[in-house]
Amino acid sequence: LLLAYDPVRRLARLQVSLERAAVNARMLYEILDTVPHQRDLPGARQLAFSEATVEFRDVRFSYGNGEEVLKGVSFLAEGGKTTALVGPSGAGKSTIISLIPRFYDPQSGVILIDGQDIAAVTKQSLRNGLAYVSQQAYLFEGSIRDNIRYGRPEATDAEVEEAARLAYAHDFILAQPQGYDTPVGEQGMTLSGGQRQRLSIARALVRNAPILLLDEATSALDTESEAAVQKALDQAMSGRTVIVIAHRLSTVVNADKIVVMNEGLVVEEGTHEELARRPDGVYARLHNIQGGFLELTVGAAAT
Ligand code: ATP
Repeated sequence: LLLAYDPVRRLARLQVSLERAAVNARMLYEILDTVPHQRDLPGARQLAFSEATVEFRDVRFSYGNGEEVLKGVSFLAEGGKTTALVGPSGAGKSTIISLIPRFYDPQSGVILIDGQDIAAVTKQSLRNGLAYVSQQAYLFEGSIRDNIRYGRPEATDAEVEEAARLAYAHDFILAQPQGYDTPVGEQGMTLSGGQRQRLSIARALVRNAPILLLDEATSALDTESEAAVQKALDQAMSGRTVIVIAHRLSTVVNADKIVVMNEGLVVEEGTHEELARRPDGVYARLHNIQGGFLELTVGAAAT
């Protein structure tokens, strides 16, 4: 009986991952392409960034189908620190990330950046302060240079190269037939998964935004590319406020704060040491049973 249902479940999962990919792509485009004065409240101000602290206060959200996906979420992501969101599939982690650029607005509660309600500022000033790196490394039709510059169209060639250096992409770019002018995208040359990711990290870095939203990749790369991508991410994360949907155990363990989500609620928060020590805690339990959140989330996405 279970076997008979399997193809249906597989299809349902495929549907979810396609939707997820579409949301990721739309989010990337929306963050990069904000038209000035788009759907802002009358009298909306510019968001003034200082520490780049992000705070959720009792945020409730539904996609409009009656199901409440966030049921009163509160947490503080301190400026310059890394906050990891963990929890089972469907807990609401991606939804939290998509509320920050105001891809959607909550039904109640507030989201504050440096004490300013993000609903009361211009979308452009909000999104100028955000960079987003998704699981999929999207490349657009154009040259490598164009693809990095897409992160900030007014960036100079020197700034594009600096971002590529920080993202450990400069050397492989120079090894391409036309260097930074090599065409990529569907018509262009094929890059490895790790190279594509480093280009998308360079695109985020060229924005030089104080807040980085990161949806960590679940698909494994070979060890060498993995190490290069991790170094690029470490650069992108350094000195920024990072909110990451964490799939790697190392990201979770090294985070300044872990926010454990379950069914639309924050059920625990603290550092790895603090949470792992609680004998009856959700984190400690999941960590012991699953050998880490890596398996927990990857397992759900992979089958
Ligand atoms: P995962 O790790 O699987 O991505 P998650 O913790 O990120 O899970 P969300 O993607 O935020 O969880 O999903 C929370 C709930 O909202 C789920 O029940 C999901 O089905 C639902 N949901 C997500 N996106 C949408 C959407 N665009 N429209 C309707 N429901 C959605």
